[in-house]
Amino acid sequence: MNPLLDFSYQALPMRVVMGPRALERLAEEIDRAGLRRVLVLCSPEQQELAETVAGLIGERSAGIHPHARMHVPVESAEAARERATDVDADGCVAVGGGSAIGLGKIVALHHGLPIIAVPTTYAGSEMTPVWGMTENGVKRTGRDPRVLPISVLYDPELTVTLPTAVSVTSGMNAIAHSVEALYAPDASPVIDLMAEEGIRALATALPDVVADGSDLDARARAQYGAWLCGACLGATTMSLHHKLCHTLGGTLDLPHAPTHTVVLPHALAYNQDAAPRAKAALGRALGTTGDPATLLWDLAGRLGAPRSLREIGMAEDDIDRIVDIALGNPYANPRDVTPDGLRQLLRAAWSGEPPAARS
Ligand code: NAD
Repeated sequence: MNPLLDFSYQALPMRVVMGPRALERLAEEIDRAGLRRVLVLCSPEQQELAETVAGLIGERSAGIHPHARMHVPVESAEAARERATDVDADGCVAVGGGSAIGLGKIVALHHGLPIIAVPTTYAGSEMTPVWGMTENGVKRTGRDPRVLPISVLYDPELTVTLPTAVSVTSGMNAIAHSVEALYAPDASPVIDLMAEEGIRALATALPDVVADGSDLDARARAQYGAWLCGACLGATTMSLHHKLCHTLGGTLDLPHAPTHTVVLPHALAYNQDAAPRAKAALGRALGTTGDPATLLWDLAGRLGAPRSLREIGMAEDDIDRIVDIALGNPYANPRDVTPDGLRQLLRAAWSGEPPAARS
């Protein structure tokens, strides 16, 4: 029996509208969903864009709440929930990156208000039923179908202002979702196809985005890749890489996308020989027969991304603490995670060495 043909696959119900000036179709999407008064959520830096959005949807806007913050602090979640109640919103439009969409998810979780997402980074939160909230330095996450946006509009023009450095790390963050989907315990042939295509799209688009951030074709290809990679994240269970990044972000407050960018080649080097089908798919996606972990490390370096945890704020002394926390929380992984293996992985990622298969 072909092992590929033994799987469970849960399709997630949502609409995707992708293309130039997709934002102009927002009012139509709101009407289609039967919503009348939507609260527009964004991070403070995206307030101008949120004002444009509110202008486009006219009387369907119940106001703008420009207070989203990374990892959804509980105070920020409470303020957004209160605002949604005060303005009598019947839905939210989340405009921006994972922070704005994450805030919309908490409002959806507590008030049942549907979300329409307009992503402007490549993080992929808009494609998942996963919410997160941070209290006293600890980030809790959970899965709930109510937090999955009902509709997502991908408009490449909205990503043109995303600075090159953020574009690269955000794109590498997306690639990480597909890498782990390829060796997930709940992988399936459909998700494998999406993962491989998503990585291919981003790996070819990001160099063009770096060369010219206003290249709309490159931006559209990157967004297409981000959509596919986000869908892979939403459909599968993540392993060592995501657990490590979650621990590093939650415990040390390291920046989300740069942390993913630095850790990914090392986590992949740890796992890839235990996941030969994933390794072969990555080779095809990256267009070469070379070692996928090294290719991703090379790609990050060529695109000017950080390659060490040291340069993004981690102290060497924290390595043992992170090893202990990560090991205290068991999860599925293609290869056993040992204290020594994890310590070596983190040490290499901390100092910025090239990735190496670790025994
Ligand atoms: P973010 O939303 O904070 O955006 C990163 C930076 O980019 C911010 O400074 C923002 O102002 C800026 N930015 C966004 N769009 C821009 C644009 N078009 N032009 C200029 N600047 C722009 O962060 P993110 O990396 O998108 O998302 C990270 C957050 O999302 C984390 O909290 C992470 O845990 C969460 N996340 C959740 C899921 C999930 O499934 N629940 C998936 C991925 C990420």
